Amino acid sequence: MSNTKAYAAFNNKDDLKPHDINRREPGADDVQIDILYCGVCHSDIHVAHDDWGMTVYPVVPGHEIIGRVKAVGADVKNFKTGDLVGVGCMVDSCRQCDPCQADLEQHCEQGMVMTYGSEDPHHEGEMTHGGYSTQIVVDQDFVLRVSEDLDTKAVAPLLCAGITTYSPLRQWNVKAGDKVGVIGLGGLGHMGVKLAAAMGAEVVMITTSPEKGADAKRLGASSVLVSKDEAAMEAHAGSFDFLLNTIPVAHNLDSYIPLLKMGKTMSLLGASQIDCHSLGLAFGRKVIAASLIGGIKETQEMLDFCAEHNIVSDVEMINMQDINNAYKRVMDNDVKYRFVIDMQSLKAV
Ligand code: NAP
Ligand code: ZN
Repeated sequence: MSNTKAYAAFNNKDDLKPHDINRREPGADDVQIDILYCGVCHSDIHVAHDDWGMTVYPVVPGHEIIGRVKAVGADVKNFKTGDLVGVGCMVDSCRQCDPCQADLEQHCEQGMVMTYGSEDPHHEGEMTHGGYSTQIVVDQDFVLRVSEDLDTKAVAPLLCAGITTYSPLRQWNVKAGDKVGVIGLGGLGHMGVKLAAAMGAEVVMITTSPEKGADAKRLGASSVLVSKDEAAMEAHAGSFDFLLNTIPVAHNLDSYIPLLKMGKTMSLLGASQIDCHSLGLAFGRKVIAASLIGGIKETQEMLDFCAEHNIVSDVEMINMQDINNAYKRVMDNDVKYRFVIDMQSLKAV
C-alpha cells in the first residue's frame, strides 16, 4: 500500500478537503501512474453532491486523468516507465460477458468498475478513488496511450468529455454533410462541436447563452441557435440529422424534438430527469436515445482520431486547492470550457 495525497468530498454539502488514501502496490498486470492533470467533469459534481443518490463518502472524484507511467508489473506488455497515458471513467470490468466481449465494457453485465465510486475489486470493503490524487494504479487493459504531440494538459478532458461525445456520433453514423445540433456549450458540448466538425458535419450550436456564440463558431460550429428564441427554433424545424443533448439538469424535450428530421435521433448525455410528450416523437417517428461514455477500444480510437486531427479541449487550469470554487463556477455555467487540475499543486503541499 502506498499513502497517496488526494482531495475528497465527505458529504453532499461541505467543500472538498485534503484526504489521504491508500493505493495498492502495482501487481503483475498493473500500471502505476504519476498523475499530471485531471479534468473536472460535471459528473464529479453530481457525485460529490450525491445528485444520483448512490454516493459512498468519502469520495475522491476525477475520471479525466493524464499522467506518466511510474512503474509496471511483470506481465505488462504495452506500457513502460515514462510513457504518457490516460485513464477515463472505468478501471475494470468482468471481461467475460457479451458487452465486455463486444468492447462495450461500460455496459458490463456485472457492472463496470468505475474509476471512482465503485467497490474496489482489489481492496475488499473499499471504494475506488479517482484522479484528484497524485497517483493511481490501474490494470493495463484500462490504460490508454496518449500522443506526445498534443498539449498534454488539454488532452485530459478527452478521457470523458471526448469519448462521451465521440461514441454517439459514431453510433449514429454522423457523416460529412449531416446537420448536427449540439445542445449545451460546456465540457461535453465543446468537444461535441469539435468532433462533429472534424467528422465533416455542419454543426449548429444550440445554446441558452447567446454570449457563447463567437466561441461556438471558433470551435467549429457554422451557426448558433439560441434555444430561448422561439422564432429561430421554428426556422430550424425538421432540419437536423442528429442532436447531441448535454444539458445537465432536469428539463423538457418538447422544444428540441421538432428540430429533428423524420426518423432521426437525439442522443441524451446529461445525467438528469427528462420529460417529453410522446406525440412529438410519434409524428415523424423520431428517436430519443442515450449514451454512456464509450468502451476502451473506442476510447483509444477517439484519442488517435484527436491526435490525427489535432483536437484537444479548451481548458482553464486550476490548482487542486481551487476545486471548490471551480465547482461553483461550473454550476453557474461559467467555465470555458473545462477546468483541469494541475496535480503539481497537490504534490507541492
Ligand atoms: P457543463 O460543463 O456544466 O455543461 C453543460 C452545459 O449545458 C452548460 O454549459 C450550458 O450550456 C447547458 N446548460 C446548463 N444548464 C442548463 C439549463 N438549465 N438549461 C439548458 N441548458 C443548460 O457539464 P458537462 O461536464 O458537459 O456535463 C453535462 C452532463 O453530462 C452532466 O449531467 C454530466 O453528468 C453528464 N455526463 C454524462 C456522461 C455520459 O456518459 N452520458 C459522461 C460525462 C458527463 P449553454 O450555456 O450553451 O446553454
Ligand atoms: Zn465525466
